[in-house]
Amino acid sequence: MQTPAPFDYERATSLDGAIASLKAHEGARIIAGGHSLLPMMKLRLATPERLIDINDLDELAYIREEGDEIAIGALTRHVELLESELLHDRFPAFRDAEQVIADPVVRNRGTIGGSLCQADAAEDLSAVCTAVKARVVIRGQGSSRVIGMHDFHRGPWMTAVGEGEILTEIRLPVTPGAGSAHEKVERRAGDWAIAAASVAVWLDGDTIADVGIGLSAVGPMTIGLTRAEELLREATLSEELLEQAGAIASEDCMPVPDGRGPVDYKRHLAGVLTKRALRRATARALQQEV
Ligand SMILES: Cc1cc2nc3c(=O)[nH]c(=O)nc-3n(C[C@H](O)[C@H](O)[C@H](O)COP(=O)(O)OP(=O)(O)OC[C@H]3O[C@@H](n4cnc5c(N)ncnc54)[C@H](O)[C@@H]3O)c2cc1C
Repeated sequence: MQTPAPFDYERATSLDGAIASLKAHEGARIIAGGHSLLPMMKLRLATPERLIDINDLDELAYIREEGDEIAIGALTRHVELLESELLHDRFPAFRDAEQVIADPVVRNRGTIGGSLCQADAAEDLSAVCTAVKARVVIRGQGSSRVIGMHDFHRGPWMTAVGEGEILTEIRLPVTPGAGSAHEKVERRAGDWAIAAASVAVWLDGDTIADVGIGLSAVGPMTIGLTRAEELLREATLSEELLEQAGAIASEDCMPVPDGRGPVDYKRHLAGVLTKRALRRATARALQQEV
């Protein structure tokens, strides 16, 4: 039987208290849904000396409109993202992704904060947040900073969240003409992606005013597809353009061969899924049925 190494446990009663405890205890880790951290502890890939449980911090669980942004608390569960009509209306890519993330058991407990902080390259929500140009709020003792997703991932399983800091909120800018979509291929229902692509587009008539593309599982970390974004930005929508963007996705991803498939297959999927997500996102922006 796999068992974690011994650790201390505390249940935080306030955000400030959790941050103070992180600061006071070297080797302490936040635990949210526990669906990534606990398996890692059982395998002894993670050996935190103390777990600070934030599950009682209801003030970190919400999805709400604030001015021209949607704000999502870090402790918001997958199931709440799946069921939110507000999020679905503004950014349907979230529901696309949540429908294919794991199973109800994981979705009932796993959180958006834990997903982003785990920074697994195959994780779906990082690609969605990259595509929709989310910004994240990171709190430390007496400090708070807001950074874009392009600055958030620092490497495989590494993020901008530093010692003594907690990710508290994800902010999504709401601007007119938006459409978004997430496309994923997995080996079986509920599995991690073999490859996945998230796209957000902002249209002005048939011109692509702005675009964001994030890829999962085809590189050492979530990939922001900047070369394809540059090609598409301010261009006139056409099938040929989407084909070119798909070709760039195949070229610019960095998959490795593993049990989920060989490199060529993953490159092919990255291209196909990027095109598919672009088509769906633009159709949604044009309010066409998809
Ligand atoms: C069987 C299974 C299948 C899965 N399939 C998928 C899938 O297809 N796609 C997918 O995207 N995910 C999948 N997951 C992962 C799932 O989405 C997890 O919920 C998620 O990865 C972690 O969220 P959590 O709240 O459980 O985080 P935890 O396990 O509690 O924490 C993960 C990491 O984040 C840190 N952390 C958590 N919250 C914060 C915070 N607010 N601030 C700072 N650090 C924080 C923890 O210290 C830890 O290092 C799967 C998981 C399982 C068990």
